[in-house]
Amino acid sequence: MKGAAVFPGTRKLGIVHDLPEPQLETATGVKLRMLQVGVCATDREIASFVFGTPPAGSNYLVLGHEGFAEVIETGPEVRGLNPGDLVVPTVRRPCDDPACTACRHHRPDFCMTGLYHEHGIMHMHGFMTEFVVDEARYMRPVPPSIRDAAVLVEPLTIAEKAFIQADQIQLRLPWNKAPNQHPEAVVLGAGPVGLLGAMALRLRGCRVTVYSRERETDPRADITRAIGATWVSSQDKTPEQMAASIGNIDLIYEATGSAALAFDMLNVLGRNGVLILTGVPGAHGPQAIDIGALITNMTLKNQCLLATVNAGNDAFDRAIADLTECCARWPEAVRGLITGRFTLEQFENPIRNGAGIKNIIEMSNTIEMSQ
Ligand code: BGC
Repeated sequence: MKGAAVFPGTRKLGIVHDLPEPQLETATGVKLRMLQVGVCATDREIASFVFGTPPAGSNYLVLGHEGFAEVIETGPEVRGLNPGDLVVPTVRRPCDDPACTACRHHRPDFCMTGLYHEHGIMHMHGFMTEFVVDEARYMRPVPPSIRDAAVLVEPLTIAEKAFIQADQIQLRLPWNKAPNQHPEAVVLGAGPVGLLGAMALRLRGCRVTVYSRERETDPRADITRAIGATWVSSQDKTPEQMAASIGNIDLIYEATGSAALAFDMLNVLGRNGVLILTGVPGAHGPQAIDIGALITNMTLKNQCLLATVNAGNDAFDRAIADLTECCARWPEAVRGLITGRFTLEQFENPIRNGAGIKNIIEMSNTIEMSQ
């Protein structure tokens, strides 16, 4: 079978044509036929060889961690999943260390050793291939009603995990034992992680402002307005000007990967607010910031800085439920997130050129491709 891979040794990308088709080997496993796989900035970083590690003994890594698949075979002990069911596989698998409390509690997204594996990223082949065999417990079932959008589940899980934690953090506020009424939220960046996060925040009743560099006329701004959020272009307003029209900002969800912007935003975060970091900007060399002013401001305003990566089953299930709701409320906006469709053979195109919002690989060759 075929798979889209990176070869770090030779710094090349290519289709591997002779991957062995995986077979069920455990009674608790499932075999998947991959339907769609999303492409994201992490894939681009792996394809530029700054990130990602092939499985032990392999000179290549099959890409893809934003998967959507159909179950085609189940082991005899699998309960609750049947051939024909649609699933989104989670990304991370636990480390082997008996002392890793997180992994032993089935929460590799909080792995304490860093020795976890991730499909298509760290030590494990990914989903940009025809068939995948994995344990049933890593599959999250998806209703057929969101078949056209389910490839967006994984990027939405990043937001869901963040908001589950932010909700827990805000229980610190003595009057906030019930969820906050209409928190003011700002989303930084209008990529898929940002826009999906904005949708999840709207579902939670937040007032949402999306702050991004594109202009008012950009389709991302249309999507933002369609979900009842406000668009502010960073070309028109500074963070301070944007914040002046909002009031106390309770939550900022950073989804740009820009280190400088993230810290700038601490200046406009409101009292008792939470700034969530999801980007992985990498080293950019030293930058001058007044740490004393920053800490003083954070302390005097009871602020929290929350950084988060990957997601557990709870976030996947919440993402599936929220996406179902988003598809019902804002079908056009959700559809508008997927801006490019490519065959497996064309995978280098969306990896080298990140234009549009979400580019996906259609694994079935029978579907006609458009760009
Ligand atoms: C993925 C996460 C993963 C992270 C770091 C992100 O793109 O969505 O699942 O943990 O990259 O490898």
